Parts: sequence; C-alpha cells; structure tokens
Amino acid sequence: MKSPLLGEFQAPDGKPHMLGPIQRIETPMHRFSEAEEVDYVIVGVGAGGGVLLQRLARAGFRVIGFDAGPFWDTERDWVSDEKGAHNLYWNDLRITAGRHPLAFGANNSGKGVGGGTVHWASFAPRLHPSDFRIHSIDGVGVDWPISYADLKPYYELLELELPVSGPSYYPWGDPHGYPYGPHPMGGVGDILIRGCTKLGIPVSAGGPVAILNGSRADRPHCIYRGFCIQGCKVGAKASTLITHVPDAIANRAEIRPNCMVSRIHVNQQRRATGVTYFDSQGREHFQKAKAVVVAGYSIETPRLLLNSACPGFENGLANSSDCVGRYLMAQAGNVVLGRFEELVRMYKAPPAHALTEEFYETDPKRGFARGFAIQTVGPLPISFAKQMMTAKGAWGWGLRSIMMDYNHWAAFGFLGEILPHPENRVQLAQEKDRFGLPIAKVTFNLGDNDKKLIEYGKNKTMEVMSAAGAQEVVQEARYAHLVGAARMGNNPETSVVDRFGRTHDIANLFICDGSLMPTQGSANPGLTIMALAARIADYLIQQGGLIFESEKRTMETPPMRRDLSPPDTWGHGMPRL
Ligand SMILES: Cc1cc2nc3c(=O)[nH]c(=O)nc-3n(C[C@H](O)[C@H](O)[C@H](O)COP(=O)(O)OP(=O)(O)OC[C@H]3O[C@@H](n4cnc5c(N)ncnc54)[C@H](O)[C@@H]3O)c2cc1C
Ligand code: SF4
Repeated sequence: MKSPLLGEFQAPDGKPHMLGPIQRIETPMHRFSEAEEVDYVIVGVGAGGGVLLQRLARAGFRVIGFDAGPFWDTERDWVSDEKGAHNLYWNDLRITAGRHPLAFGANNSGKGVGGGTVHWASFAPRLHPSDFRIHSIDGVGVDWPISYADLKPYYELLELELPVSGPSYYPWGDPHGYPYGPHPMGGVGDILIRGCTKLGIPVSAGGPVAILNGSRADRPHCIYRGFCIQGCKVGAKASTLITHVPDAIANRAEIRPNCMVSRIHVNQQRRATGVTYFDSQGREHFQKAKAVVVAGYSIETPRLLLNSACPGFENGLANSSDCVGRYLMAQAGNVVLGRFEELVRMYKAPPAHALTEEFYETDPKRGFARGFAIQTVGPLPISFAKQMMTAKGAWGWGLRSIMMDYNHWAAFGFLGEILPHPENRVQLAQEKDRFGLPIAKVTFNLGDNDKKLIEYGKNKTMEVMSAAGAQEVVQEARYAHLVGAARMGNNPETSVVDRFGRTHDIANLFICDGSLMPTQGSANPGLTIMALAARIADYLIQQGGLIFESEKRTMETPPMRRDLSPPDTWGHGMPRL
C-alpha cells in the first residue's frame, strides 16, 4: 500500500481507494474533467458546503467541492499540540478596520476540507424560536424569512447525523432532549455548575456538544484530552470532514483541495456558467457547471462575489441590493478567567461541555434588547498566556509565574448577540493576495445596544465565576463566530438571497454558509449553518433540472429527505430517543 496522497491509495486489489481521516472509503474518488459540465460546483467544503455536497452527491448530482485548503489526513497532518494546529486556520492577510476591529488569523475561519468544523469546539445549541423574529418581538435587527418551525426538523436530523450529546431535557428556547447522553464534567464545568447553582441560575451539564459519548460505527468515543480546537485527531468530535465528506466521496462527488476559486463566471443571459480557480501549483483553470454554490464563510463568500464583478454586475455578483458584505455579525466572546485554590486542570476535557442560556432572551429590566449565553472554554497554555497578557498586562517574570499557576485557573466564555448593522461590512481592499486577488477589508463597530449587552453580560459572567469561589477574576474582551454578509430575506432590495439560499439576481447562483444568517442569537452558529444547508439541499434536489434551465422560482417548502443522511446516522451508538 502506498502512503495516502490526498486520501487516495492503491489497495492490494490494484484499485485506487480513499483513506478518509478516520474511515476507509471503499470507493475511489471520482474525477470530473474540466471539459465536462458538472451539475454543481460548491466553493468551500466547510460546515455549510460539506453538508450540501454530501446530499447532492447522494441524490445523484454530479458535484465538485473546491476548497482553498488541504484535504486533511488526520494521522499525518494533525498534532495534539496548540502551536502545531496553527495551519488549520485561514491565516492569509485580511485588513481589519472600524472603531471595534475584529482580530483575524487563529480563532477565526478554517481553511481546508471541513472548514471551521475542523477546529470548532463543537458546542451545538439551536437558535431559539425568538431569534427568527427579533424585529417583530423586540423592535431590533430584522426577522428571518423562515421560522424556527421550518428549521426544527433539520436541527433534529443534524443532531443525529453529527451526533450531538447533551442532557435529556434542555430547558431553553424550544425545550428538547438530545439523542446521545451528556458527557462527564471537567474541572471548568464543575466550576460553572457551582457558580450558577450558588446564584440560582439553571445550567446544562455535558452538552449540547457534537462529540461522541460512546463509539459509533468507525468513530471512537471521546478520550477527554482537550485538543478539540486543534482538530481532534481521535475522531470523536464531529466535523464535516469525517461526518459528511466520506459519504459524499462514496457517492461520486469530487473534492478538489488546495484550489482557490477566484471568480464566478456569468454569461449574457445572467446565468452562472462555472468558476475560475488556481490549483496548488498556482495554475489557472476553468470548471464548467450548471449551477454554482458559494460556501466560503462570511468573509470569503462576499469577497468572491465582489471579486467576480463583470459587465452587468459592476458592483459584484448578486449585489443589486448593495447588501453583499453588509450586516456582517460577530458574537461578543469575552473570556472570563478565575483563579481557584484547588487544581482545575482546564485542559482535561473538551473545552465545550457546560453552559447556561438563562440570559438568552430580552429582559426589559436590563435596558437592552436580546441576550447572551455563558459557556465553558478551556484555553490551552498559549491562548491562556495571550489572555493573561491582555487581561492583566502580564509580561516577563509576572507572566511566567502565572503560567506556572495555569492548572489553578478556569475560563468561561460569554457569548453575546451583536445586532446586524449595515456599516459592519466586508469590502475589497487595495492589497492583493498571491493570486493577485484583492483581499477582504472588514469594518466593525459596536452599536449602543451591543455595548450595553456586553457590559452587562461580562459582569454577570464574572459574578458567576466569583460565586464559584474564585480568588481573582479577570477578563479579556474578544469576538467570536462571524456570520451574515450575504443575508437571506424576502425582499430583494434588502437581502442577497431568498429563503432557499438562491441569489435574488442570478437564478442558478446560491449561497450556503453562515453568510445567510440575518441575525445570530447567542447560540454558536455551526448547527444552524448545517441545518440550513440540509434544507437548501432538499430544495435543490426537489427542483431537479429546473435549477439548471429555468428562471422560475418555486417557493414551496420541499419535503424533508431523511434518506439522504450519511449511512451511520441511524441505528448505532447509544441513542436515547
Ligand atoms: C476556535 C473556534 C471555535 C469554534 N467553536 C464553535 C462551536 O463550538 N460551535 C459552533 O457552532 N461554532 C463554532 N465555531 C464557528 C464555526 O466553526 C463556524 O461558524 C462554521 O464553521 C462556519 O461555517 P461556514 O460554512 O460558514 O464556513 P467554514 O466552515 O469556515 O467553511 C468555509 C470553507 O470555504 C473555503 N473557502 C473559502 N473561500 C474559498 C475560495 N475562494 N475557494 C475555495 N475554497 C474557499 C475555506 O477554506 C473553508 O474550508 C468556532 C470557530 C472557531 C474559530
Ligand atoms: S477531548 Fe474528546 S473530542 Fe476533544 S480532542 Fe480529545 S477526544 Fe477529541
């Protein structure tokens, strides 16, 4: 057997086979020729793109998923080491601007097959029903063009596909239980529970988190060593790389890793015809397609649409509303750290394992709209050192002595809803990347409601840490989880895509990632992005060839296709429902 090359190897039977990151895939990867017009090209194989690719392939469409980063071989490429995981992120230059600029690089979007799900902590809460109607309920932001009821069956399905472990009764939003039992508590979880209990705040222990509690099919259970954000070499943590991509390949999808899509082409009939991309050697190619889906994350998706400007679409593709790049959101993600007399050892568990959503909904007494969640996080030493430098100004011997005290510290993440603002946006910068493409310039400012929410939420999180018995409590301000910038809506003048991800301006151009989200709640976005992708897949599959030929838009909700789930979704592990 040759050593695996991009997942492919020559088996003793003489045929090429795929070796997935965990799974052995019995089918060789199908290769389409460039001269061949495929049905769909998907730009980006992350949370949204990975789920869509798998379903389109399973339904028999000819589909290619492009990703600018590698097809990870988890054995060869990943290390259980904080510094060594740096290459999982989109580290290419981005320009940051505004009064409250976002930090890029590590702790941002992913680059490589699986996208951000490779390095996500895998907290997997749903949005609340109220999140879809915040303008109607609270007079802020905007309502979604779909309701919680539209997404609920897809939440339930994805919770089985990943699968999600958590309590049998989760009390917030639309109360529900999880198919797999909760994980045991780590040191930080114990402290969150202790602090919340002292203050009478309900708390969820052991999830919801997309980490196996018990083995399933060819994936082993979690071994609680805390390297989730470094990729989880074990394979216990879900990522589309191991949950959906293998099934896509088994169903004749092609993945072209290390291929940076630079432009979407549109003909005079205003239809997308394919994409130009640069391969790993920097050579330029054109791939023909009957339809194009962009799933590149909330920065690269608007960047690609803007970089694809052409006659007839001078302001970028699908941008007649001037909304491409606008209404970008990040969640407030302050990290609150507390020092305890006892040993906490926060590295010894998945960082994501306990949370409270008790403050999620608007409470008029607080003086601002919407709310926040408080979650466990478990920074490893390099992140911890950076946090202490910011939070305490620690440096030199002072920082060294804090680092020697690392095992006594616990960290909570405060996750707060920042509202959508049109001036928070992605634009093209003057600077160019190595392919000569203008890079993204991202402007970010907080509004008054955002500032009040952050101040209150940060203080409440510190109060919980103190109530747990911390001798010292400090905090670092930061942001997490970018979404928006190509939002969905019913009105083509104020949104980029309709409720099925189809751009208002180009009938065979779709968006299928976090960019779609009109608002973000204070739930981590990954599960919602995947649920939206599964719903968009059902729509595309039901429309069939009409997408390729017709300008007509059917807005009927498609039936849900449970039969398109990856094969190991049903009948394995320790389901509780
Ligand atoms: C440290 C960290 C922890 C997180 N933890 C959680 C968590 O616990 N729970 C949660 O729900 N969310 C979490 N997130 C957020 C989550 O990872 C993202 O919200 C999610 O992955 C976004 O999905 P997406 O489909 O929009 O894009 P991504 O998953 O980022 O996928 C986009 C893909 O597109 C590719 N791409 C982009 N442009 C191009 C191009 N031009 N050509 C080819 N390929 C391209 C990229 O390489 C990438 O692979 C975390 C994020 C970080 C950084
Ligand atoms: S703690 Fe569990 S999910 Fe996280 S990296 Fe380790 S084995 Fe994977």
